[in-house]
Amino acid sequence: MTIRPLVILPDPRLRLVSEPVGEVTSEIRTLVADMLETMYDAPGVGLAAIQVGVPKRIVTIDTSKDEDARRPQIFIDPEVVWSSEERRIYDEGCLSIPDYYGEVERPDRVRVRFRGLDGNSQEIEADGLLATCIQHEIDHLNGTLFIDHLSKLKRDRVTKKFAKAAKRGEAA
Ligand code: ZN
Repeated sequence: MTIRPLVILPDPRLRLVSEPVGEVTSEIRTLVADMLETMYDAPGVGLAAIQVGVPKRIVTIDTSKDEDARRPQIFIDPEVVWSSEERRIYDEGCLSIPDYYGEVERPDRVRVRFRGLDGNSQEIEADGLLATCIQHEIDHLNGTLFIDHLSKLKRDRVTKKFAKAAKRGEAA
């Protein structure tokens, strides 16, 4: 497994709409293993393939927060098939926008259809942090970032900060 470099704002690849995976090949399995390694190393609770520069619809998540009891979850071609009326606010961050956080309101519970590494279709119902995380990561697959859910003022401010840092060739 290899730790891959993270794609950081304002890299235009973060705005790409990722392609469906189709067949789960050995190349895809290697990518997933690398994504998990990269996510745990960061550390983060979720990662979309485009965040390591691969525009494919793959998400890895582990909300366990306990290094000794890792519970990696892999979502290939995930889609939200149902979301609750009830909403929750969570202070979100993103490995592609380091050290920046903002409160985002999303449905509290979602039902997600996806395929596992075995290629078989399955569904789960998620709530709490997992629900927030899945929605954040599926947004990535559609070229959407959590800052797009913030006010224009906040979004412009953070985008400018990262654009300036990128010009200077350093992290924001
Ligand atoms: Zn993110």
